[in-house]
Amino acid sequence: ARRPIVGGNWKCNPDSMSKLDELITNINNCDTSKCDVYVSPSPLHVTYCMDKVTNGAHVCPQNCNFKGCGAYTGEMAVEQMKDLKIGWVLIGHSERREYFAETDTMLAQKLKYILDAGMKCVFCIGEKLPEREKGLEATMAVCISQLEQIKGLLDPEKVVIAYEPVWAIGTGVTATAEQAQETHAAIRKWIAGNVSEECAAGIRIQYGGSANAKNAPELSACPDIDGFLVGGASLKPEFVDIVAAIS
Ligand code: 13P
Repeated sequence: ARRPIVGGNWKCNPDSMSKLDELITNINNCDTSKCDVYVSPSPLHVTYCMDKVTNGAHVCPQNCNFKGCGAYTGEMAVEQMKDLKIGWVLIGHSERREYFAETDTMLAQKLKYILDAGMKCVFCIGEKLPEREKGLEATMAVCISQLEQIKGLLDPEKVVIAYEPVWAIGTGVTATAEQAQETHAAIRKWIAGNVSEECAAGIRIQYGGSANAKNAPELSACPDIDGFLVGGASLKPEFVDIVAAIS
């Protein structure tokens, strides 16, 4: 069985250190005995969180560069993360793709760089509204195009896929359990056919997009949903309940 995994992506929040302390308390209130938990703070807050998280939750930066230390202004290298004992990094978020022009090719380079360094990665994919409106085939065409260049790197021990339909992110419109399950199953089937059955059976696929304490129980009951990547609700005490729902 796949061990569930729930992440809190705080994005560019909170706006003060006092609020950060409250959010860290939330993380420390999560039960990590049956579920992997990670938190993705703003880069400014990463080391502070490393010092304050006490329950085994991982601190997983929201991005890294593609190459290492050196002349990459504004960026963070995996070597720096490793030195800080950070084990995980999240890449490919739709906001990175949209606002920071990250391409599938660049993300494949980043993933290889992360794995070569011995770190683990949460890799985000997901379609936008027009494809969802066309149905599963158009939705999967996007997901496949986002996976195609990393299929040789997929390893259940090292990579977690976060399926985050862009239309569900921050909108309060969650994918229905049927939509999410069907898409997760289709992603798994594609991996079975294009990587291996073993990889498909073992790799964890998180759902992200307006996940909250209310919809988490139904979504987490779906066989191919292995946890959540939570944005807005990770800034609230209910994050603890989302972790509990899948444990
Ligand atoms: P929301 O939970 O706010 O929709 O955000 C999801 C997300 O983008 C997590 O990475």
